[in-house]
Amino acid sequence: MHRILLLMATRTYRSRAFMRAARKLDAEVVVGSERRQALARARSGNTITVNFRRPERAIAQITEAADEQPFDAIVGVDDDTTMVAAMAAEALGVRHNSVAAVRATRNKYVMRQLLASAAVPSPPFELASLDDDLTDLAFRTPYPCVVKPVFLSASRGVIRADNPGGFLSAVERVRAILQDPEVAAAGAEDARRIMVEGFIPGPEVALEGIMIGGRLKMLAIFDKPDPLDGPYFEETIYVTPSRLPVEGQTRVCDVTARAAAALGLREGPVHAELRVNSDGAWVIEIAARSIGGLCSDTLEFSGGMSLEEMILLNAVGADVSRFEREQQPSGVMMLPIPRAGTLHAVHGLEDAKAAPGIVDVTVSIPIGAQVVPLPEGNRYLGFMFARGESPERVEAALRDAHRRLTFEIV
Ligand code: ADP
Repeated sequence: MHRILLLMATRTYRSRAFMRAARKLDAEVVVGSERRQALARARSGNTITVNFRRPERAIAQITEAADEQPFDAIVGVDDDTTMVAAMAAEALGVRHNSVAAVRATRNKYVMRQLLASAAVPSPPFELASLDDDLTDLAFRTPYPCVVKPVFLSASRGVIRADNPGGFLSAVERVRAILQDPEVAAAGAEDARRIMVEGFIPGPEVALEGIMIGGRLKMLAIFDKPDPLDGPYFEETIYVTPSRLPVEGQTRVCDVTARAAAALGLREGPVHAELRVNSDGAWVIEIAARSIGGLCSDTLEFSGGMSLEEMILLNAVGADVSRFEREQQPSGVMMLPIPRAGTLHAVHGLEDAKAAPGIVDVTVSIPIGAQVVPLPEGNRYLGFMFARGESPERVEAALRDAHRRLTFEIV
């Protein structure tokens, strides 16, 4: 029986899907998390405490557990834990992406440098220090541009600017996000830096894939039919299969494979965001993890297998190269937070669930909780899933169901 260490932070959206996958596979699962609450929720299997904030401590804790009984695989379920997973795997000699490759996915500056040196299409960029006077840069940088933190995720602090005034106010907004004590501690010197990138126009897609011995296996391409023109980049609807022409999809796959190779990603899930326009496919980002939130519920593979089952099988060395996504179009809508406040009530939930084509609606923020929209926030109100006979129908079902929902935020 394989023994798998699943690393998941308390706040992850991904525990349910990974725990369900682990139960379906004949594997012994150990959950590593930073606090006991998350461990209690995991319920099955063993648990260990892992301090994700202090990687050297985390590795010592994982090594101690491995000394008792070794792990066959170490899986970080999302951005919060992929680095520690790579470091622990390296320390214990477990098959995994290299630490350098995963580090490159977690640092937008390093990622852009590696993509540029491998001539993978990616936005022009410049690193700037928040300790400098950025007025010069404001007048010199080409517009539109995108200002973003170097190390955060979920579009947090990602802001488009169209002129020097917009640039300088975006910088102040990002500075404020980076001054949050928790963010500043996590970012260390990167919390004093920002990236300034050229804005790449055109529709955006997400590619979900898995690296098998250095080769990319494409699992799904999702269209993002809502325009992502800024100033903030809220994820809403994802629909697969993509409606891009075949040559566009081929280009997306090729460019993603080249991006993975440029960063040195060889094993496990990849999630890439690309823009497609008349100049080709451009890598906005590539991450060494699977799709975020609850969105993987849209995917199902040969024999009813979930994405997480595939990831765990791949992690223990099983051959997943022949598994294919089932054919039915499906999609998800991440329910955006329209404004800051306290979530008082959700109306129309049953009506939305009953809408044609809707599979499920999950509100993932409890009533009474504070909600923060982008660019400062990094959560969604919930997730809505649809299936249909065409991507158009799926998209229409999600929009219809969304109109039936009202979130009372006070
Ligand atoms: P995060 O890792 O926080 O999600 P990204 O760099 O992926 O940050 O940016 C989030 C979103 O912002 C992207 O999915 C895209 O829609 C938009 N975006 C970011 N950078 C650019 C860019 N240079 N050109 C166009 N859109 C961008």
